[in-house]
Amino acid sequence: MPELPLHAKLTVDVGALAANWQALARACAPAECGAAIKADGYGLGARMVLETLAKAGCRRFYVAHWHEVPPLLPLPEGVTVAVLHGVMPDEIGAVLDLPAVPVLSTPAQVAAWRATGRPCEAMVDTGLNRLGLAPAEAPGLLAGLDLRVLHSHLACAEEPGHPLNEVQRQAFADVAARVPAAARALANSGGIGLGRGWHFTLTRPGIGLYGGGAGPDGGRLRAVAGLSARILQLRDVPAGATIGYGATFTAGRHSRIATVALGYADGYVRALGNRGQALAGGIACPAAGRVSMDLAAFDVTDAPGLAEGDWLDIDFDLPRVAALTGRSQYELLTGLGGRYARVCR
Ligand SMILES: *Cc1c(COP(=O)(O)O)cnc(C)c1O
Repeated sequence: MPELPLHAKLTVDVGALAANWQALARACAPAECGAAIKADGYGLGARMVLETLAKAGCRRFYVAHWHEVPPLLPLPEGVTVAVLHGVMPDEIGAVLDLPAVPVLSTPAQVAAWRATGRPCEAMVDTGLNRLGLAPAEAPGLLAGLDLRVLHSHLACAEEPGHPLNEVQRQAFADVAARVPAAARALANSGGIGLGRGWHFTLTRPGIGLYGGGAGPDGGRLRAVAGLSARILQLRDVPAGATIGYGATFTAGRHSRIATVALGYADGYVRALGNRGQALAGGIACPAAGRVSMDLAAFDVTDAPGLAEGDWLDIDFDLPRVAALTGRSQYELLTGLGGRYARVCR
């Protein structure tokens, strides 16, 4: 059977992805730099991200669920994967065949995993109050385990001036001094920017790899994800015509409207209706009307020469789209959905 058409394209700039990891790794050195590739590599494709970053030198990868491990196999030589959700005591039998280790975060998980005699990682909670052992109980509970990494996770890493950053740094340093582990990790992408005191011996950036958030020096990292969608139909409308559900856009002049195959089911969120833009050879083409589930319309009057079937680049610049929509850059990336042709460049 011939390959069926897809009308939306997610282009991943693998050079930018590798360059972002290298920039973060340089900022962490001599600490090691890992990578968070949960949620299918923040929506971009976990296997492709792992292969790209392993070639760039990354050795440790983090997913959330055990279900995220099999698509990564076989792992490149020297690469390890750890599962941030840990493993519930009644699930251990189901995961023992996988080449991944849990990040344990409750006393019950630690006790059940100890019986396997296998290596593991562990999370202590230093103030996020999400997952993790209490610092006071951690040294006793973890004694004698083959502990590859002791982790904690920051609550306010994106706000460098927040007092909780220093409180968590100190709390983690205190517990790390009492728990023998081969490596110690506190910082996500934002934590790397807080400085050397937060790097310990390993970091776990996610969003920065994919071009989001602030870079380690406060500047921007390189954009990695690009969206484009096919023009399914072009129509000329007179001044006064309205476009789309609710008739929320009225053409102020005789206009050319492109209807493209991209909607809120593809993560092109409704808040981009009448706010987003497409880019035709650098010419801005504003969104015209509401975003539908599978379609969006753009005013391409100022970009002559477009034809039905052409691919239109859709502006998905993370900081700009986050500001326009009130969504976090994390939500925007991980919401992209499964209806894209994913291509690398
Ligand atoms: C998601 C996650 C990360 C990566 O965070 P970013 O803010 O995307 O850099 C690191 N550590 C843990 C425990 C996480 O859950």
